[in-house]
Amino acid sequence: MEHPENDELYKGLKVNKGVADVPTVNPYLKKRLQRKEYTAAEFVEGILKGNITIVSQAVTLVESAKYEHQQIAQEIIEKCLPHAGKSIRLGITGVPGAGKSTSIDSFGLHVLKKGHKLAVLAIDPSSERSKGSILGDKTRMEALSRKKNAFIRPSPSAGSLGGVARKTRETIVLCEAAGFDTIFVETVGVGQSETAVHSMVDFFLLIQLAGTGDELQGIKRGIMEMADGIVINKADGDNIDKAKLAAAQFRNALHLFPAPASGWTPKVLTYSGYYNLGIEEVWDMIYEYIAFVKANGYFDYKRNEQAKYWMYESIHETLRDTFYHNPAVEKMLKPTEQQVLNNEISSFVAAKRMMDLFLENLSCREEKH
Ligand code: GDP
Repeated sequence: MEHPENDELYKGLKVNKGVADVPTVNPYLKKRLQRKEYTAAEFVEGILKGNITIVSQAVTLVESAKYEHQQIAQEIIEKCLPHAGKSIRLGITGVPGAGKSTSIDSFGLHVLKKGHKLAVLAIDPSSERSKGSILGDKTRMEALSRKKNAFIRPSPSAGSLGGVARKTRETIVLCEAAGFDTIFVETVGVGQSETAVHSMVDFFLLIQLAGTGDELQGIKRGIMEMADGIVINKADGDNIDKAKLAAAQFRNALHLFPAPASGWTPKVLTYSGYYNLGIEEVWDMIYEYIAFVKANGYFDYKRNEQAKYWMYESIHETLRDTFYHNPAVEKMLKPTEQQVLNNEISSFVAAKRMMDLFLENLSCREEKH
């Protein structure tokens, strides 16, 4: 008997049959979560076919800090490399509010209309996914994010600038192999990240605003020097004259800089990302530059220099990482630092001791894997 209470003995008392337990987890969800584990070769095949889902998953591996993810990611990148490099890479910078996302939306639509495939990536070492302050966030590029031929990927989550930048650079390789022939790399124009972006793009575009009349204030000289083109955004309505004035001031300021190694004289234009004014001219400038540097050899020279730069960056990053994650180093670093602070040993002796300790214990890290 299911329920003793239903016995004849207990008159007037009846316990109804319960409802069968429903599964707590949606059975389809479980299936969906069991994502297929692709091999590196399968990833590469999907990427070369331009399968966006697979490109996204491969980028996730590139961004992952897990050792086994990095292993497969590096294998994928290596196999994609021969298919990469055939794109125009454009770096876009500007302070928050300059209109980067609005402009990328307009620039992007323009590029798509010309029949290109566009990937929008970002470098924002300060971003944390959980906070939602992500460059490249889809919601900021509304029109573009609905387009089939556009791939928008937010900045890899917070980490060292070198690490974040390396991941973006590796993502460029995957995107190019997937057939994206135009790559935008966006960064916020307030820190060191411009240098990182500059070292992975063919053309560096600085977005500026007409403002208080003293346009050049607050712009780091280094950033202006890196720019192949400066564009004054929001040249619309009452702001057109101010934007033109700002452009003239930038042109004058650029004269004071040494001539760039490319042989190209950086141009200054005005446009409106929001109202779609002058977008064509900005792109004409970019294509003109590309044709110019391809003709004089600077395009290839710069890409080679960049490849060299990233090789050394990568070595430095790996060395730092291996050093600081070495268990022996981790154990002794703070006590040694304290000895320096107590004036017991000099900084140099401390550094030498740590390096010796590291070299003696080099195998520790390998054992960990
Ligand atoms: P970001 O922080 O550099 O990405 O800048 P946003 O693209 O988010 O733009 C900042 C603000 O400027 C938003 O309110 C935009 O609507 C506005 N904005 C962007 N481009 C233009 C433009 O061409 N003209 C005008 N009038 N406003 C613009």
